[in-house]
Amino acid sequence: MKNNLLGMSLSNMEDFFISIGEKPYRAKQVFQWIHQKGISDFSKMTNLSKELQKMLAGISEIKAPEIVYEKDSKDGTRKWVLNVGEGDLVEMVLIPEGKRATLCVSSQVGCAVDCSFCATGKQGFSRNLSQAEIIGQVWVAENSFGLPRDHGSKNVTNIVMMGMGEPLLNFEAVTGAMNLMMDDKAYGLSKRKVTLSTSGLVPMIDKLSEVTNAALTISLHAPNDGLRNELVPINKKYPIKDLLNAVERYVNKCGDQRKTTIEYILINKVNDSLENAKELAKILKNVPSKINLIPFNPFAGSAYKRPSSMRVQAFKKIMQKEGFITTVRTTRGEDIMAACGQLVGKVNDKTNRKKRLAKDNKIIKTKSLV
Ligand code: SAH
Ligand code: SF4
Repeated sequence: MKNNLLGMSLSNMEDFFISIGEKPYRAKQVFQWIHQKGISDFSKMTNLSKELQKMLAGISEIKAPEIVYEKDSKDGTRKWVLNVGEGDLVEMVLIPEGKRATLCVSSQVGCAVDCSFCATGKQGFSRNLSQAEIIGQVWVAENSFGLPRDHGSKNVTNIVMMGMGEPLLNFEAVTGAMNLMMDDKAYGLSKRKVTLSTSGLVPMIDKLSEVTNAALTISLHAPNDGLRNELVPINKKYPIKDLLNAVERYVNKCGDQRKTTIEYILINKVNDSLENAKELAKILKNVPSKINLIPFNPFAGSAYKRPSSMRVQAFKKIMQKEGFITTVRTTRGEDIMAACGQLVGKVNDKTNRKKRLAKDNKIIKTKSLV
């Protein structure tokens, strides 16, 4: 099997070049061709000798996930369905907003955490994505618009690990790919522009602070353990208090004045009452945080409903009155099933979750465009 150079850090690529008897500075040249110019054909790497181009083509490759399908929403959001082999498909979304364009990247095929409101969770779980498959999504998005690139990131200004999967359950590949996103010789995005979102794996948040200082977002979704146990089952293992303590440790370790974003999905009459808002404000009182409210995005088969905008605004008002910077996430790409929690791809479910749901007559019909 050929070595895929796409997922390698610069230092791994240097080791690779040394191992084939080449000078390490060649690694930097190839690294920049791949990530800064979007080139995957060795014969186009004009500062390499013809012999080296040929040798590299014989033993290595630059292989990104294959695009199965891409579609633009009427609001400018673009969704890709990517083939990662053996019948597994993942989804990725680019959301333009003025001068910004945020890429929502997947970390796993499906998700084992199984939150009750999430279409990805209902798909079951197949496997972790490799570092090449994760950074490959950025590579695909950057090179999708046919524009010439001569340095760093052009089409993508922000990246959020909020596609399919729980990024902290695929720690090495995700953090390795995030380092490439932030590497000046690759995509050069600042630590504030690369965000990891997690359902709350406490020990992994501590581990994260040892390898990166990228932005962290917590998918909280409930103000007390009783409710959160229902919505985000991993809460039974890592309850809210432990999670918020881990957030505090992460922020302290980063040593800046940052506020952590707390994501709170609003589900009609489940977690969106005024009492819920007050309770949320109370538990976050000492956590430097800002709140991002996400009105539930429906998918076929889910019993949950999106609250009225009046209920959403009332919740927001309480949080603001309590002193929190609070935003409501506008739903983007809904017409192409690209909104938060609607990404399903195609998952070779190894958990039997889909089968169990069907047996209990609770099958969640997830609709994909493929
Ligand atoms: N597993 C990670 C990252 C992927 S989920 C996490 O849970 O944080 C990305 C975001 O989409 C999370 O905040 C998640 O809670 C939200 N989400 C999931 N399903 C949703 C739905 N049906 N409607 C709106 N947001 C949803
Ligand atoms: Fe997994 Fe995140 Fe969906 Fe929960 S919300 S099932 S952790 S992808």
